[in-house]
Amino acid sequence: MKIESAMNKLKTLLLGICSLACLSFFSCTQQAQTEKKGPVAKHVVLIGLDGWGAYSVPKAEMPAVKRLMAEGAYTLEKRSVLPSSSAVNWASMFMGAGPELHGYTEWGSKTPELPSRVLNEHGIFPTVFQLLRDACPQAEIGCLHQWGGIKYLVDTLALSYREQLQPEELCSAAERYIKEKQPALLTVCFDEPDHVGHAIGHDTPEYYAKLTEQDAYIDRIVRAVDEAGIADETIFILTADHGGINKGHGGKTMQEMQTPFIICGKGVKKGVEFHESMMQYDVASTIAYIFALEQPQVWVGRPALQVFE
Ligand SMILES: [Zn+2]
Repeated sequence: MKIESAMNKLKTLLLGICSLACLSFFSCTQQAQTEKKGPVAKHVVLIGLDGWGAYSVPKAEMPAVKRLMAEGAYTLEKRSVLPSSSAVNWASMFMGAGPELHGYTEWGSKTPELPSRVLNEHGIFPTVFQLLRDACPQAEIGCLHQWGGIKYLVDTLALSYREQLQPEELCSAAERYIKEKQPALLTVCFDEPDHVGHAIGHDTPEYYAKLTEQDAYIDRIVRAVDEAGIADETIFILTADHGGINKGHGGKTMQEMQTPFIICGKGVKKGVEFHESMMQYDVASTIAYIFALEQPQVWVGRPALQVFE
């Protein structure tokens, strides 16, 4: 009898351990699937080109980008927040709100000029990276960037991997990271064609040549996702912080204010140009929607629901 009851206790204990292990294994996906729908895809690769005005897209020779446009959904009317400058717009893209709320108001803001309306446990306004980290502590989340200013806007404590590199190395690092780690969320921020825009001018032959060069990097990143075997579960998003006019940006022309937003992959409609309003901070909300993350009350972004099947 004694042996039998000890055996029963052991069985119960083993069952308990087993179900605990199973629980922790599935909790991440279950948490993300609470209420409404589950995640649309398992991976998001966000590629940002600094200073890429929507006006340039029809004229640009960008075969990889045009392929993603044809196979996905896009708008050429996504608006930047004001001013049409870098940090304030990258912040809005990651933080689901405008400068009035996140507080980063200038081209090179490293800290908010006005107090962020809400701070997370890392002491920064809530980012999409942190939302995903909170829901999935084990998620692989990366940010690769060329411009140093990006690191102040991404909540580095929520990331698994971050590096600042020159474009060729940046692209290689992205390829390597995708193949080795199959990240859930990877952001790759290139600093061109902004430099050419400042040095030679927007809408110039040199500007278009730079866009074609950037397109080759995008092509390589798309291929890396293919080679990693996760293409069926990935959504690509291509966009920009702002456009430009003559040799600058920061102002209120539509050449400066409108940027492309291209989305392609699992669960995304194909061959659709959409005209619904889209703002810089809707990018964060759209990514949150893809991962079925609940957005914080302080966010004002709205997911671009119309692009999903
Ligand atoms: Zn910029």
